[in-house]
Amino acid sequence: MRIVIVGGGAGGLELACKLGRKLGPEQVFLVDNKLFHIWKPTLHEVAAGTLDYHQEGLSYLMLAHDNRFSFAYGPMLALDTAAREITVGETRGEDGESIVPERRLPYDQLIIAVGSTANYFGVPGAPEHTLALNGPEDAERFRLRMLKRLTAAELRKDRDPSAGVDIVIIGGGATGVELAAELREASAVHSRYGFAHLDPQHDVRITLLEGAERILAPLPQQVSSSAARLLAERYVTVHASCRVVRIEADAVYDADGRRHAADITVWSAGIKAPPLLATLGLPTNRGGQLEVDGQLRVNGHLGIYALGDCAACIGVDGRPVPPRAQAAHQQADYLFAAFMAISRGQAPSTAPYVYKDHGSLVSIGTQTTVGSLMGALKSSWFIEGLFARLMYVSLHLLHHRAVLGSMRTAVLALARFLVKRATPLVKLH
Ligand SMILES: Cc1cc2nc3c(=O)[nH]c(=O)nc-3n(C[C@H](O)[C@H](O)[C@H](O)COP(=O)(O)OP(=O)(O)OC[C@H]3O[C@@H](n4cnc5c(N)ncnc54)[C@H](O)[C@@H]3O)c2cc1C
Repeated sequence: MRIVIVGGGAGGLELACKLGRKLGPEQVFLVDNKLFHIWKPTLHEVAAGTLDYHQEGLSYLMLAHDNRFSFAYGPMLALDTAAREITVGETRGEDGESIVPERRLPYDQLIIAVGSTANYFGVPGAPEHTLALNGPEDAERFRLRMLKRLTAAELRKDRDPSAGVDIVIIGGGATGVELAAELREASAVHSRYGFAHLDPQHDVRITLLEGAERILAPLPQQVSSSAARLLAERYVTVHASCRVVRIEADAVYDADGRRHAADITVWSAGIKAPPLLATLGLPTNRGGQLEVDGQLRVNGHLGIYALGDCAACIGVDGRPVPPRAQAAHQQADYLFAAFMAISRGQAPSTAPYVYKDHGSLVSIGTQTTVGSLMGALKSSWFIEGLFARLMYVSLHLLHHRAVLGSMRTAVLALARFLVKRATPLVKLH
């Protein structure tokens, strides 16, 4: 049995590692169009420069070797359900030279786990003038742009006391809030570039725009209020009930006619399924996600599954499973059990996947976290501070354990992550 997993992110990589360790490289294949994996919930830290991508990124080849799966480098381009093959596109190096040519990869079982991409909701100027944190290359681009803007402001400061960097983040969900807080923390290390004239608290002006009445709108009011307070303490300006109508290279305009000056604009206001999915001949919902049944099987297509952000999975409570790392993690575990049963010649369990919401935690810089944990009877507990921080980190620990194979290695990797110090925006070596 050849199992092909497309997308080595929060869910797909965990599945590949767990299956690889049991079934080996002849049976388990992972396809990804990147060479390095980084856990997406840490991307805002890479963007801010408080997490070193070169240290935190895990090479797929190393993971394939250690976890005994085969790795196919390249983007999935097409699906041939009759031949049970996918097409993996050519990859090229920075010099334009071909690295791996286009080829076809046969499968017996196919799992699509290609995540999500930014949804601009038709806002004019958004695709051209904003950065979205979809992958490590976006985070790196942000980091370099930030360095460029800081350098320009530093050089101007003597002549112009108002010189600084204006960052506008559109979308006050978890990603936007976490990025705003992380950027403020990162501002404090800018002086290490010799930016002696810039005041890190006030010359990096961070504005967060949210269309709903409050930031973190899907979470309990107490979580929103605490996050708003913590952001205010960090000199982050928050505008709620603010609908963005147009974006230009140097400003964001809202429905009330206000202009928000922006040297860098980040889009974190929504996600949608990657456009590839609509081209595969598989059933999709209005958002472009693949429609799956309770066992994560793509409707009407035997042997094809989807998990994570790209799967439209309706939970047993009738509500869509949210696009979150904890859902991708749980779905990977669910499919692991199913494929292990199939590999033993048994029928997989017919019990549907059940999403367990363990709560939502939002990191406010490297030191604190706010959120709510789900308790028994669906009640939620508000938590904040160090305990919340430890709970936040535990989701990352579960991911490390799944991909590194042992709790000891995962704890060591995470310990390294936790003692990380804010690093400069660009490695100078
Ligand atoms: C900044 C940020 C913070 C977040 N924080 C949290 C959090 O605190 N808690 C939480 O639960 N969730 C969080 N999320 C959401 C969470 O990261 C996603 O829900 C989760 O990563 C989805 O996992 P996935 O496996 O579906 O996709 P992803 O993790 O996005 O992985 C998709 C993979 O598919 C690959 N791929 C894409 N297209 C192709 C193709 N055509 N061919 C081959 N490979 C392809 C990509 O390279 C990638 O490796 C956060 C997201 C962001 C951006």
